Amino acid sequence: GGTVGILGGGQLGRMLAIAAAQLGLKAHVYAPEADPPAADVARCTRGAWDDAGALRAFAGAVDVVTYEFENVPAAVVDALEPLVPVRPGRKALAVAQDRVTEKRFLNRIGVATAPFAPVDDAESLAAALERVGTPAILKTRRFGYDGKGQARIAGDGDAPGALAAMGGAPAVLEGLIRFSREISVIAARGADGAVACFDPGENVHEDGILRSTTVPAGCDAATAAAAKEIAARILAALDYVGVIGVEFFETDSRALLVNEIAPRVHNTGHWTIEATANDQFRQHVKAVCLWPLGDPARHADAVMENLIGDEALDWARLSAAPGTALHLYGKAEMRPGRKMGHTTRLRAIAAPSSSL
Ligand code: ATP
Ligand code: MG
Ligand code: MG
Repeated sequence: GGTVGILGGGQLGRMLAIAAAQLGLKAHVYAPEADPPAADVARCTRGAWDDAGALRAFAGAVDVVTYEFENVPAAVVDALEPLVPVRPGRKALAVAQDRVTEKRFLNRIGVATAPFAPVDDAESLAAALERVGTPAILKTRRFGYDGKGQARIAGDGDAPGALAAMGGAPAVLEGLIRFSREISVIAARGADGAVACFDPGENVHEDGILRSTTVPAGCDAATAAAAKEIAARILAALDYVGVIGVEFFETDSRALLVNEIAPRVHNTGHWTIEATANDQFRQHVKAVCLWPLGDPARHADAVMENLIGDEALDWARLSAAPGTALHLYGKAEMRPGRKMGHTTRLRAIAAPSSSL
């Protein structure tokens, strides 16, 4: 038995709660918003992030706490940690909440990133452009997702507009990488230090939002192995317990740069639900509950496509599509650009990706 506490009630929390149930565990979600997707499948406490009493009660009702999004305020973890284990711990959260802290951490452990420089005002932006050059991309340091809080800078003339788009928030300038492909590795680390990596997926983004993930990725075997090795190095350096998503750019010269890390289950890992025996959600639950990790081997090729905004209205056709698993998140309100569900199309492969 046991109850997994989940901070955040979006679709990732929903799928984590389903995985917990599959493993004979209960899930209890803590979320500030009314009617979150995860509340359909788990007990749910609706509470503000600064509601100390509600957080204390939540801590008392669960055996371990994890989170489904990386913007959980540090103060929430501070409040919970003396009462209940929080996995992954606060280090991963602190590193991943700030794009500058994250890139400095990655570079320190020998992982390459795009060139970058912090930006707070027009003066530091000018200095950053001097260092990084153009084309570049200005991003808020915190709270960005689905490409929100980003502005491209093709030439110096775009700088004032890009800075205004940050709305006064601390930012980071990144060199725009001309990648040949984007890949990601979803990896898990157990409390004993064991690491299990899923095969890299190849990701296509549209307007900053993930459109699709395809496995296997088109990269060569050495690049796939290098990406897994980098993910393992990041996990060890963070003394991490749970599943992480690591996003990469692969350049024409086959160099790997890490774009960003997500200290949680990840949209680019949804294909694992159908194409492995231990999907990323069960793997995360196992890791944070201190169970042995499951085998991440892949038994099928897969294409995962997000259903964004009104694309989900096509659910009836997708429901009957050959070889296709349809997932809908039960979101109360449809909005343009909002992830409403996804599909995973499978193609069986003759031999599994690693020995079973
Ligand atoms: P997510 O929803 O993945 O958390 P996010 O808002 O954190 O998204 P990023 O991952 O930083 O955004 O960027 C979204 C996409 O924009 C990337 O996957 C990539 O396609 C493109 N992009 C971001 N930064 C760069 C860069 N430095 N060079 C080239 N392309 C970039
Ligand atoms: Mg991100
Ligand atoms: Mg990203």
